[in-house]
Amino acid sequence: MDASAEIIEHLSRRLTSASELRMPRPTSTPVTIAAPAVTPNPVSLVDIQIIGSDDGTLGIAEASKHFGFDPKRIYFLTDLNKRSFRGAHGHKQLRQFIVCVHGTVTLEIIAREHRVITTLDHYSKGAILRPGCWRALRDFSHDAIVLVLASHEYDEADYLRDFDQFRAWEQSVATAPVPYIDLKRTDAAIGFQIRRAIDGVIASGTYVGGPAVQRFEDDFSQYCGTTHTVGVANGLDALSLALRAMAIGPGDEVIIPAHTFVATALAVTAVGATPCPVDVEYETGLLDVSKVEAAITARTKAVIPVHLYGHPVDMDPLLEIASRYGLRVLEDAAQAHGARYYGRRCGALGDAAAFSFYPTKNLGAIGDAGAVTASDPALADRVRKLANYGSSTKYIHEIAGGNSRLDPIQAAVLDVKLKHLDAWNTRREVLALRYLAGLRHVRGISLPIVRPWAEPVWHVFAVKIEGGRRDAVAQFLQQAGIGTNLHYPVPVTEQPCYAGNWNHDDFPNARRLARSLISLPLDPTHSDDEIDRVIHVLQKALAQTV
Ligand SMILES: *Cc1c(COP(=O)(O)O)cnc(C)c1O
Repeated sequence: MDASAEIIEHLSRRLTSASELRMPRPTSTPVTIAAPAVTPNPVSLVDIQIIGSDDGTLGIAEASKHFGFDPKRIYFLTDLNKRSFRGAHGHKQLRQFIVCVHGTVTLEIIAREHRVITTLDHYSKGAILRPGCWRALRDFSHDAIVLVLASHEYDEADYLRDFDQFRAWEQSVATAPVPYIDLKRTDAAIGFQIRRAIDGVIASGTYVGGPAVQRFEDDFSQYCGTTHTVGVANGLDALSLALRAMAIGPGDEVIIPAHTFVATALAVTAVGATPCPVDVEYETGLLDVSKVEAAITARTKAVIPVHLYGHPVDMDPLLEIASRYGLRVLEDAAQAHGARYYGRRCGALGDAAAFSFYPTKNLGAIGDAGAVTASDPALADRVRKLANYGSSTKYIHEIAGGNSRLDPIQAAVLDVKLKHLDAWNTRREVLALRYLAGLRHVRGISLPIVRPWAEPVWHVFAVKIEGGRRDAVAQFLQQAGIGTNLHYPVPVTEQPCYAGNWNHDDFPNARRLARSLISLPLDPTHSDDEIDRVIHVLQKALAQTV
């Protein structure tokens, strides 16, 4: 079996069990609100909460539990006759929640290859219609009363009035450009939950620190399998505060991979220490642990493994070296929320870990945010002090700290999103598998690999295109409307801010990666069709560019 076949089989096996555990089923209760295109079925049925007594029956539908949006418009249909036919139109954006509070009605829903016919014959059942589908209501009983909650107010531009027009619109959506990432899509999926969380903070009157921050910190510690999380302002601060809390500063050296986002190096520079880059493995782009020992000097105090692209570094041998030389290990987990190393989550593997919640990360805020995780309470306490003017008692400043606190609005948003993170990471894995299967026989491209110890979270799906063709392929894709990204086009060691510090030839793999890597669109909100389009256009690009 070739390497990609093995990876594909390994991932498929895990996904089969993951999908049994995690993916929401279309008709069960309670519903999980899925991101668009996670569940392509255009309609799902949900149970409405019914409280019956001798005095009558109360039916309750709550946005978060039952239908997943804040209604902007309510309408009802009554005095219908059996031959009436209502609806028979499509909506581009509108979501609807339909309940037949009396009598019966049949819904016919069409979207892409789906045609669903379902009868609502009791007030305890509701139907959620996703956006982008064609709907018709018919076969009303003479006593039918149909209540509809809609996600938007009336907007003629949202209607698709005839079926051919609807199919043409579906087609145009199916061939639309594929963005590298479109953060608005997450808003379309869970925006209502996010707005509620923000409203909660506004209503609380606590705008720095407070229960929203504490709740997220506790939930994130539990998620990572560690004991302490300190929310901070961003990922760069998470790294530099953790280094300062480890008493690393001027005169000290910190080992970092030569291929990473520049923040890993800047954090070391920010505390006055010296970043010492070590070359990476060409296959994975990850720190080459076998080269670490040779880079250790009498001044080396710490090493920062970066779980780049969501794939964990081989931590056991690194921790062994670190303990032999008395080095601290700070994970840069800014791309690895939820990733596992031999079953243990990144963020719980070293002395401390730095996370970024930059909006595009696997767990992203709606602005800047970050966190440090640690299992040592004293270390966590020092980070918290350093991020809060060096103080833990009001107006008593034990150390000359700064201000880098996690905003409670961001904390509340992150806590909402944390509940979706596993489902989103599973979705990323499904899409990664789709790429691996679709591209495995394509010439001129090297696909990412998965090490035996890793359950990666596919923050980035980076492929290699060698022979100086990468930029021509990127341009071809761009002209075909496919967004791509380069992570990263210039190695840390060649950044202007570090000019003259290192000999570029000492990091041959980092140099080669900077020239050959290209990141393809992979976000939980991408549809299967979009990934297929990328595969198709990429094949064309590779065949036509030289
Ligand atoms: C994003 C990122 C950071 C920095 O995070 P910010 O929140 O943008 O400061 C650090 N390291 C890596 C590997 C990253 O990807």
